[in-house]
Amino acid sequence: MGTTHVLFSLLIYFLLWRLNLIAIEGLSLIFIVIGSILPDIDHPNGLIYQFLSLPEWLVKGITSLDRHRGKTHTLWAAIVVLTSSILLFNVYSKLDLIVSLMFFLGYLSHLASDSLNKTGVKWLSPVFEITLRWKISTGSKSEKYFFYTVGILLITVMASKK
Ligand SMILES: [Zn+2]
Repeated sequence: MGTTHVLFSLLIYFLLWRLNLIAIEGLSLIFIVIGSILPDIDHPNGLIYQFLSLPEWLVKGITSLDRHRGKTHTLWAAIVVLTSSILLFNVYSKLDLIVSLMFFLGYLSHLASDSLNKTGVKWLSPVFEITLRWKISTGSKSEKYFFYTVGILLITVMASKK
């Protein structure tokens, strides 16, 4: 599912670019991708751990703090990520605000694509325990179809810009 999240975030990024809302820029592109894999920090096989190659004890420690698709898979976590990002990257490091906005958007894109999954996402937990879910199972044929559909849409969007 990790690569699907990355592809889905890239589709959103290039759609915004196609609509002339953003310009392609290295940092914002990197941040939307990192944002798209960050919520799975609660899963030992999360793509983020493959990038970071942290020691196993640390991964076990972090992932034992909460169940998969718990606190990191909420709108509140996304808002904390946005706020922290603005403080760290915009106020402190003086980077452009687009970096934090793309980080936030990447995070939201992860929650949105997980909401297409059978397990779904409790976006507003613990305030409202409503689960947004659909029919796609992780590792199933339907996930592969979703992956290829997003890939084809991404190529189409990228190729359609004049
Ligand atoms: Zn997830």
